[in-house]
Amino acid sequence: MNGYKAPDIRSGHGICQEVRNIPGRVLAVTMDIPWELFQKHCAWTPDHVYMVPDMDLETVEQAEKTLPPCDTVVGIGGGSSCDMAKYIAWKRGCRMVLVPTIISVDAPLTNTIAVRIDKKVTYIGNIFPEELLVDYSLIQEAPPDLNRAGACDIASIHTGLYDWRLAHEDTGERYDAAIAAEARECLVELDRNAEEVYQVTPKGIDTIVDLYRREVKFCTIFGNSRPEEGSEHLVAYNIEHITRRHFLHGDLVAFGLFAMTRLQQHEHEWMVSLMRRCGLRYICPDASRDELRQALLTLKSFKDSAGLFYSIVDKIPITPEFVEDTLAALG
Ligand SMILES: [Zn+2]
Repeated sequence: MNGYKAPDIRSGHGICQEVRNIPGRVLAVTMDIPWELFQKHCAWTPDHVYMVPDMDLETVEQAEKTLPPCDTVVGIGGGSSCDMAKYIAWKRGCRMVLVPTIISVDAPLTNTIAVRIDKKVTYIGNIFPEELLVDYSLIQEAPPDLNRAGACDIASIHTGLYDWRLAHEDTGERYDAAIAAEARECLVELDRNAEEVYQVTPKGIDTIVDLYRREVKFCTIFGNSRPEEGSEHLVAYNIEHITRRHFLHGDLVAFGLFAMTRLQQHEHEWMVSLMRRCGLRYICPDASRDELRQALLTLKSFKDSAGLFYSIVDKIPITPEFVEDTLAALG
């Protein structure tokens, strides 16, 4: 299974206080906002606290080399805090405990580490998080929109499976029906719990975390993220490429889902309903309409020059008419 290790996930109100029982020298890795929040929920003084300034590769390497030795690294926060903890534990081979304070990205479950090299996100490393403390009270304090955004990388299975199947039929790309069925199950589970995800209830939080866990597992077994990343992610990457700005990942992918289910003619209305019910912001509020327009118009050439995977974008031309209709349908 490519060295897949299943995580031990403990969840509950106040579960973050478990960090006080960690023996030995403890290094906490966090950021200002999550750390302040965490301290309200758990009075704790680890041996050392490091505030992650950014995830540039130089920063990450320097931090690992200069931070004091530790027996356990505890990552408290969102994607960057978790990824910094993963980097340190990966390099040092020490124990790692992750305490996500937000579930907007799957970093607490994945084995790779997102760093920036020349401002471009690149994935390095290989370490499966094995110990997670999912504290509902802590996570519920984050802005609901950010937590809801976590649904995007599950919803993307819908377009992802379509593009994967298409690639198999058109180019002979490797396909695994059993894994596709497992992925489909995750989508059904999200649909069933959309209201809980929207309300950020304990059940909604558990749903997102468990679906991430299942997704990381089947993608690891398959060998890449083909089952969950399709043309909707191409749209997301192109918006970042065009604007050179940082967005909430869920906003980009949601717009990609809106546009690509139209291009695929693949249950677009249902996807829009799912995104509404989960609270995914498919209008991508932080991008202008012209940026969204450019991202669609240049999608094929972006995909070709970046050498990215085969999808509906290779099969059906994106015409100016399609783009204008899509933007008009966004409302
Ligand atoms: Zn994603």
